[in-house]
Amino acid sequence: MYLTKIYKNSSCIDGRGIFAGEPIPKGTVVFYYSSNDAYVLKKEFQSLPDSEREQIQKLGLEDESGNWIVTDGDANHSCDANILSMFVDGIYCDIAVKDIKIGEEITIDYGLFYSSFPWQMKCRCHSNNCRGVFGSAIPVDFQTQQLWHLRISEAAGRIFQVTQPLFARGDESARALRLALRSKQNPEIFPYTKFSLISNDPKMKI
Ligand SMILES: [Zn+2]
Repeated sequence: MYLTKIYKNSSCIDGRGIFAGEPIPKGTVVFYYSSNDAYVLKKEFQSLPDSEREQIQKLGLEDESGNWIVTDGDANHSCDANILSMFVDGIYCDIAVKDIKIGEEITIDYGLFYSSFPWQMKCRCHSNNCRGVFGSAIPVDFQTQQLWHLRISEAAGRIFQVTQPLFARGDESARALRLALRSKQNPEIFPYTKFSLISNDPKMKI
């Protein structure tokens, strides 16, 4: 679930996107998996009709076991995203890697998501570093991976300098993530992102 105020609106990238309902400083943990999120187990997913599976694939995130989580907001892809995915002791979350202004669209890099099947989409993010197409079928190039690592590390270094809505949450997954973050204050300990799932570079492995 999203930890910051968001709202949905029409997007100049694609269809409807999610937008910041408040200023989100760089270093804010924006999203985590909570028990309030809807999970669709692999078995259940496989038994659904095509139309429902397509909807989940559009709105959801797949984990490495083939289970799906359907999130409360569907951030569009950008090749110059303002939030990025990271793992802290194996716990997934998204962190703001830029200061996001109120009313600004929240974007993430879809190329980093795990997917059990290859897919690709034409990009309409209009950023200067647009890759043109993105998806699990197109591994993110090494230079971009390094830049994302740098942005995540810089943002992670600010985790304890900004107000974290995560820290006000009392559910078990929030507590686990908070503990993981507290035990890993050095940003260098955030080397593991989804990159490691799609990169052949051994330096990017766990
Ligand atoms: Zn793009």
